[in-house]
Amino acid sequence: MADKSAVESSKQEGIAVPRRKRRPLPKTLQLNVYRRDNWLCYWCKRAVIFSPAFKLLQLDLQSSGFDKVAYYHPHGTRRDAPLLDELGAAIDHVHAFSSGGACSEENFRTSCWKCNVRKNDAAVQKWEQREKRSPIKGKYGEPTHWDGLTSLFILIAERNPSLLTDTERDWLSALKAMRPCSLAD
Ligand SMILES: [Zn+2]
Repeated sequence: MADKSAVESSKQEGIAVPRRKRRPLPKTLQLNVYRRDNWLCYWCKRAVIFSPAFKLLQLDLQSSGFDKVAYYHPHGTRRDAPLLDELGAAIDHVHAFSSGGACSEENFRTSCWKCNVRKNDAAVQKWEQREKRSPIKGKYGEPTHWDGLTSLFILIAERNPSLLTDTERDWLSALKAMRPCSLAD
């Protein structure tokens, strides 16, 4: 997935740690983390968006003649994808990979792109001292049914299979395998 979760600094925070090869995280593992965290940024509590859903939505709109839409951009810039720039979903390592953080579900948190970029490879203690986005708090409680727009992704993907790349087909398979029984085919 080409999103800001891939944006990571090579800075070592002053700690000499041998570089480890980073493999893409399995899609099911990523979805498990997002779902466990209710698609809310662990750091600022904002609801995050599954960026492939916005990509398909944009392609769908463009194929219907809406050629000037700014829902998705591979680099998620504010200019070309302002909402994703704020709320795109990313996976954060609590303990940075480059500092030896484990590649296990417990070491992952859902993050918005803004917090992900700010946190970057920072050591946890340093990140705790940095200025963060002010966390959001709901007057009537936290969302329990927010899905990051993954249902929208499934809907568009199944209606327009020709729009899908191999990666999106993999996302669709992973999402459908996780669908609640009530929505199963
Ligand atoms: Zn955040």
